[in-house]
Amino acid sequence: MSSSIRERIITIRSSLPDSVRLIAVTKQVSAEIIRCAYAVGIRDFGESRIQEAASKQVQLQDYPDITWHFIGHLQSNKARKAIEQFQWIHSVDNLQLAQRLNQLAQELKMSPQVCLQVKIRSDPNKSGWSTSQLLADLPALAQCKNLQIQGLMTIPPLGLNDSEIIDVFNSTSKLAKEIQAQNWSNVQMQHLSMGMSGDYKLAIQAGATMVRLGTILFGERSI
Ligand SMILES: *Cc1c(COP(=O)(O)O)cnc(C)c1O
Repeated sequence: MSSSIRERIITIRSSLPDSVRLIAVTKQVSAEIIRCAYAVGIRDFGESRIQEAASKQVQLQDYPDITWHFIGHLQSNKARKAIEQFQWIHSVDNLQLAQRLNQLAQELKMSPQVCLQVKIRSDPNKSGWSTSQLLADLPALAQCKNLQIQGLMTIPPLGLNDSEIIDVFNSTSKLAKEIQAQNWSNVQMQHLSMGMSGDYKLAIQAGATMVRLGTILFGERSI
């Protein structure tokens, strides 16, 4: 089983442009399988639950050069752990959470790299800024000096066709450029975290710099 995972990882990774960083999403994937991915060169791993990640991170302490990416919905009461356990948080989805993370980062003397999660289309199942709300919150976000704001993250709503999905990704890319052009001192927009197993090729066409792949590397999850 792990040899086919190895092959899939190698094949997918070699199909990606050099400019795209592959985040291997390992929710429900064991530490042992993470070791297989590490052995073929993967260093970026994404998890969506703090607790589940913690137990694997303990098992993988002998791999200090792993970069851990938090990609799930982050509740405020888990914000401290998220900063302690992850170098990147892709799913900062509202101003209050950003400000809480900023405060905690100061206390912990850390400066996590974060993406701002946006919803280009309204989606009751997903959290994230609307375009207009994000633009309105930029002055306050620019004050979050302990966060390294690196770009935008998005997840298209379920049920869109390819041209609608690419539209979401293109709009996200355009929004990032618009924000970058405003030259906020503390808001960088160099990264676009978008693209999952079903849509990463479309995301790359639209300028994704980080794709978050689970199923296509490790197989179907049980839930
Ligand atoms: C699970 C998950 C992924 C990976 O999804 P796949 O379809 O398995 O590739 C990517 N991003 C987020 C936010 C996720 O929760």
